[in-house]
Amino acid sequence: MPIQWHKTTCSYCGFGCGLMVGVDRGKIVEIKGMEGHPTNDGMICTLPANSVPIFGAEGRLTKPMIRRDGKLSPVTWEEAIAHVAAQLKKIIETHGPGAVAIHSGAICMTEEYYLMNKLLKASIGSNNIESSTRLCMASSAMGFVSTIGADAPPACYDDIEMADLFFIAGNNMAVSVPVLFMRVARAKENNGAKVIVVDPRKSETSSIADIHLRIKPGTDVALNNALAHVLLKEGYVNEETVEEYASGLKDLKELLEDYPPSKASEITGCPEQLIIDAARTIGRSKAMLTFWFQGYNHSSQAVFKNNTLHNLWLLTNNFCRPGAGPLSITGECNALGCRWIGGLSHLLPGMRMVANPQHRQEIAAFWDIPMEKLRPIPGRSIIDIIRGLHTGDVRAFWSITTNPAASLPNTKWITAGLAKAELLIVQDIFHPTETTNLATVVLPAAQWCEKTGTFISSERRIELAEKIIDPPGDAKPDYEILCLIARAMGFEKEFPYSSPEEVFEELKKTTKGRICDLNGVTYERLRGKVGLQLPCPDVNHPGTPRLFTDKNFPRADGRAALLPREYKTSKETINEEYPFVLITSRQQWHFNTRTRTGRIPKLHRNAPDNFVEIHPSDAANLCINTGDTVEISSVRGTAKGVARVSDSVLQGTVYMPIHYGSAINIEDGKLANLVTNNVYDIHSKQPEYKFSAVKVKKARWS
Ligand code: SF4
Repeated sequence: MPIQWHKTTCSYCGFGCGLMVGVDRGKIVEIKGMEGHPTNDGMICTLPANSVPIFGAEGRLTKPMIRRDGKLSPVTWEEAIAHVAAQLKKIIETHGPGAVAIHSGAICMTEEYYLMNKLLKASIGSNNIESSTRLCMASSAMGFVSTIGADAPPACYDDIEMADLFFIAGNNMAVSVPVLFMRVARAKENNGAKVIVVDPRKSETSSIADIHLRIKPGTDVALNNALAHVLLKEGYVNEETVEEYASGLKDLKELLEDYPPSKASEITGCPEQLIIDAARTIGRSKAMLTFWFQGYNHSSQAVFKNNTLHNLWLLTNNFCRPGAGPLSITGECNALGCRWIGGLSHLLPGMRMVANPQHRQEIAAFWDIPMEKLRPIPGRSIIDIIRGLHTGDVRAFWSITTNPAASLPNTKWITAGLAKAELLIVQDIFHPTETTNLATVVLPAAQWCEKTGTFISSERRIELAEKIIDPPGDAKPDYEILCLIARAMGFEKEFPYSSPEEVFEELKKTTKGRICDLNGVTYERLRGKVGLQLPCPDVNHPGTPRLFTDKNFPRADGRAALLPREYKTSKETINEEYPFVLITSRQQWHFNTRTRTGRIPKLHRNAPDNFVEIHPSDAANLCINTGDTVEISSVRGTAKGVARVSDSVLQGTVYMPIHYGSAINIEDGKLANLVTNNVYDIHSKQPEYKFSAVKVKKARWS
């Protein structure tokens, strides 16, 4: 029988490539890029291209399990659901609804986030719902809210081929969003577009830069302020035009007086002339497209970094027109869908806020519950949920399709908190993971291609990813597990759904009239096609490529905000005992904590072990050679890796990839998060993964 091809959407990063999945006799045998898809036109990166083995990989969860006498033992679904429902009810009765928390990955489907929200916020009455978008894009979201009034990325991927300048900050897109990088590199080659990269590290992405601003970690605000200073001083800003669409120019100019390039050079370590050259390149550009990622967002000044970047495109009129605009690419495939449907502790469905009484009233009316049932105060952020586990204020922790025991910063503190949970439900696809190892209940979930739902990509494109094969054993789609538990807790009326499509038809009504309006989207319009860009308010609407093209922003005076932001040092600073800064990032061959990619033989072979990049001068001082095992220690813990002596890092800085937990294929003690910091940006509550004060030494046995 010939291979049957099915269209789907990638379930790794948030670029949203269209994929074709080949099936032969009920098994997935090939995954390739979809020709003609507007995002990738047939291109594909290493992660999905090598993902066929995950559908038959060892360790796949096929039965629910409950921990008894210290061991996880298989049980029936009936037993597992009854146990979970009874335990949750008992904890709520004894300790109140705030003792329950959900933490999900940002690779769940929009329908699933809606159900988690409804269950926790409406039925149980707790706002303690978090997803990995807190770890990824919360600062971008707060940056957009403070600058343009809404968490709504305005630009689109078509802008890539229309731009004449790419400003890429805090991201090695060549390995974290490879198809985007291919499009950027091709645009540079074909159209002569220029590239400015801001990154402390020499990377695959900086290899195509015309200007590489190698700033010290965490100093982006000083750099951006100096760039804006030069733009204003050298006459690249049409102040009259700017005042038409943005407020705050006077205050910003006052602050920027204090940021000449000479001062920024001292703070950032970047040559003054290079800062001036970069500013002039921005000033002369006709269409600048800006990309920024976790290098910005994993910082205690993350929202301010976002704001000062926004100042640059607002000052130069580089937004909301072809080729120009801000594009923040999410690290996971449905981070935007998650936020837009309320998947963080301060949000409600349809881009609404828990703290806004009108928003609570609208959603309470929609869910047909008394308004008082919706708590007016945002729930705990994920770091504060763990804090609550330590203090006993949170008792039940439900992890859905994610691996917090490895993905959250300050691993020892995180795992000690998780171990205190009375009820630790882990709903996932593989065992062991670092988190299933701690679980009191494990629920086997269907994965991508085994269930149906929608993803929303970073250019606001919603696509349908349908079930293509059956899940193994007794594994069930997450939407079904959520409905079963909700009903067993007594919420039958609220959770009557018999398909994800029914959930979608309900959730889309919460978006009516909002920037994320989904009311013109149906499964039928999406099936087999390339999706629709939101908002899409009615069934004849073609979708919306760019937002705010009329320069009318959802703020009180209709203008965006230029925000004066002072540079501040990171929360943790280097000192005599911990004289190096540790920075971290993704690598090409793995995704997050390797729950999936660590089980793909080719990917594991290509990147089997952790490593540490260290500058040649620092290595010489410490008698470290390439190949030595080194220990990186902060006040929180120690992680080991094999040294790579290289000038890809700045002197005084060391680098480790994020991926290497110990649940599969790797010995213990190599996870970068053993060292990283759980302190967070007060505006976004996103942790500062990318600045930890550390010491470095050769491991004794190397
Ligand atoms: S670039 Fe991102 S969306 Fe595209 S194939 Fe790679 S992981 Fe998937």
